[in-house]
Formats: sequence, C-alpha cells, structure tokens
Amino acid sequence: MFFLDLDRFKLVNDSFGHSYGDTLLQKVAHRLKSITPNNGTIYRLGGDEFIIILRNTTIKKTQSLAEQIVKELSEPYIIEQLEIVTTPSIGISVYPLDGIDAETLIQKADNAMYHVKRIARGHYQFHRESLKQKSLGNIQMDSSLRKGIQQNEFFLVYQPQIDATTNKIVGAEALLRWHSRDLGPVSPNVFIPLAEETGLIIPIGEWVLEQACNQIIAWKEEGILLPIAINLSIRQFYYHNFIPSVEKIIQKTDIDPSLLHMEITESMAIDQEFATKVLQQLKNIGVKIAIDDFGTGYSSLSHLKKFSFDYLKIDQSFIRDLDHNKDEQDMISIITMLAKNFNMRTIAEGVETEKHVDLLKKYECDIMQGFFYSRPLPPSEFTQWQKNWEIQTHL
Ligand code: C2E
Ligand code: MG
Ligand code: MG
Repeated sequence: MFFLDLDRFKLVNDSFGHSYGDTLLQKVAHRLKSITPNNGTIYRLGGDEFIIILRNTTIKKTQSLAEQIVKELSEPYIIEQLEIVTTPSIGISVYPLDGIDAETLIQKADNAMYHVKRIARGHYQFHRESLKQKSLGNIQMDSSLRKGIQQNEFFLVYQPQIDATTNKIVGAEALLRWHSRDLGPVSPNVFIPLAEETGLIIPIGEWVLEQACNQIIAWKEEGILLPIAINLSIRQFYYHNFIPSVEKIIQKTDIDPSLLHMEITESMAIDQEFATKVLQQLKNIGVKIAIDDFGTGYSSLSHLKKFSFDYLKIDQSFIRDLDHNKDEQDMISIITMLAKNFNMRTIAEGVETEKHVDLLKKYECDIMQGFFYSRPLPPSEFTQWQKNWEIQTHL
C-alpha cells in the first residue's frame, strides 16, 4: 500500500487558488493512472493524498513502481502557461508484514510517508517498526512546540555583522532559540521544519518579527542604531496575512522600516508572480531584503536581476574550505562580482578564521558574519560585546 502526498501542495493552492490546485490534482491523477500497472488501484483519500494498492506483487516491483512515480510526478506541470513543480512523498506498507487490516496498513504507510517528508521529500520509503518511535517523537515535539509558544520558551539571539572595509558593526541577524521545558534546547534546524509543516511557523514568525522590532527600539534607546535581520520561512512569505502583519508591527513599534531586514531563500521564488508581488510590497514598506544561503538553491540569475535584493548572503558551505579550495575561492570571486553588478552588498556567513577574513576581503566581500567575530548573543551580552566596536549605520 502506497500512501502518497504531494509536497508543498498547500502552497500551490494558497497562492494560485483552488481551481489551479484542482487542475494540478487532476494532472497528478492522470500521471498516476498512466504508470500504475493493472494489478494496482488508485484512490484519492482527500486533499493531496492518494493511496495505491498493488496486489500480488513483490518488494522489487513495488520499489520500481515507487521510483517511477517519484520520477514522473516530479516532472514540471504546465497549468495556464505557468510551470509548476511538485514532488511526491510516498510511504509504503506491506501486507501481511506490517498489518492485516486496512486501518493498520494505512497508518503505517502514512507514518513512513511522514518520515520521508521530514528527511528528504520527493522520495519513498517502506514502513519499518523503528519508524514508529520517530513519528511519535514528532507528535511529541509538535505538542511541545505549541506549549512552548504559550509558555514563552522562545528567545532571540543576535549575531553581529561587520563591514569588511571599515571594521565597524553594520547590523545583526536575529536567530531563534527554543529551550523547551519538555525536551531541553532544540536546534532551529530541527524545530523550524516541523513548525513549517504544521503551520505553527506563522505565530512563531510573527513573534520573531515583533520581538526584533522591539529590540531595534530598545537598542536605539541605548544609542545603538542598528538594523536587525530576521529569517523568513517560505510559509510565512506566502501567508495571506503576511504583509498586513508586517505593516501593523512596524506601525505599532514605530521603527524606521529600513532598519528591518528580511532574509529569504531562493525557494521563495517557487511562484514567481506571487513572489514578485510580495517583494514589491515589502519594498514599498521600506524594509530591506537579503537572499540567504545563496548558492545552495536553484535560483536563476534572472530572479536576482528581477527581484533586486539589497543583500546577498553567501552560504557557509562556500566559506568552510575556503583556505585550501581554489574552486571555492573562484566561486566567492564570481559571486561577489555578480552581486556588484546587480547592486547588492555581499554578506559572508560562517566566517570562522582570520584566514577566511583575509580571503573574503581579497575577493571584495562587503560584510562578515561568523564565530570569528562572535557567536549569536542574547541582547544584554550583545550590548556588552558591542562596546568595543564602532557602529556604522547605512540608512
Ligand atoms: P541561517 O539563517 O543561514 O543562519 C546562520 C546559521 O549559522 C545560524 O544557525 C548561526 O548560528 C550559524 N553560524 C553563525 N556563524 C557561524 C560560524 O562561524 N560557523 C558555523 N558553523 N555556524 C555559524 P542557527 O542559529 O542554528 O540557525 C539555523 C537556521 O535556522 C538558520 O540558518 C535559519 O535558516 C533558521 N532560523 C533561525 N532562526 C529563524 C527564525 O527566526 N525564523 C526562521 N524562519 N528560520 C530561522
Ligand atoms: Mg539567515
Ligand atoms: Mg544562511
């Protein structure tokens, strides 16, 4: 039994409208029909979930069908002249190994599918008993996350950004931390994907936004006039109430909007038209936009040109081996040149050594961020740390 769910279908639905989503589902169903053999039956469970039952088969044949489905369904769909890509995540349970009744088999296939979503997406996986533990873990973390919001278990830490030429502080990135009473400290790389999956990222993201604006004011009152960059999740970016909530918080805190920077990733451009609209609205509000983790996604140069970002953050992976890797050095040199041409300032992430700094300066990277200067710090420690540095604010 295959349990199939489309990745990011909600996003398609929310951003293009339901009739667009319906057409996509029909196209997916057609593709499924064309590849499923005669001993298979396809059912639509609801939403973007499908079940396929394959009778009298072998593990090997099951596996090859799963591979084929992943491949075929991941090909782009053209709907009303727009090209859209969605990948399927598939969980598979086997009768009678995993269960003998429908309910158990569906539940196990669903568990396996959920596991795929958490780690890879666009993939398939057979159910294993060991998965049970993991998905229970997710359920527990989800409820802890909900509690965490109510019980103020979240806080922000701030990592300084240093101008490479003047050696002054030019900004700080706000990074979210969660010390859960149930689970202890949990890394954002673990809880943010889950919060995205469950939608909790919307209230969490609003909290981050408001907290950062409050910090801008608090620092300003201490004489520290610095922009703060927050990270946006794709789900927030596509949320219908996103722009109004930004406007509301800026109004409420009365900050200079150019002190608020938003870091987005290349994947935000999944729906070009919609992304352009949101970015334009953000520009009108006056906030600055940075493209985060640059070089790890699938962004095309035309996106860079069209969206006219203010900052380009070079992903840590390019910095890590900079000392011994000539290819990485060439990459940095190309990226900074490219950014200059598009009128963007470059920020290097994960700057850990003096050698990194020297090389990044050589390739004319504008701004440095990383452990070499400081770890992300709670506000009071940041204030302390900053005393040995001069501040330079570009407004
Ligand atoms: P990111 O935005 O690329 O943030 C940079 C990450 O690199 C941070 O990890 C930071 O602590 C770490 N880092 C900074 N300097 C160095 C260094 O010199 N060396 C190394 N190895 N690492 C360094 P962190 O705080 O664990 O955050 C991980 C990711 O979680 C962030 O990546 C961001 O994508 C996401 N995230 C964090 N806070 C938020 C948030 O408030 N909202 C959303 N949507 N995502 C967030
Ligand atoms: Mg970031
Ligand atoms: Mg980054």
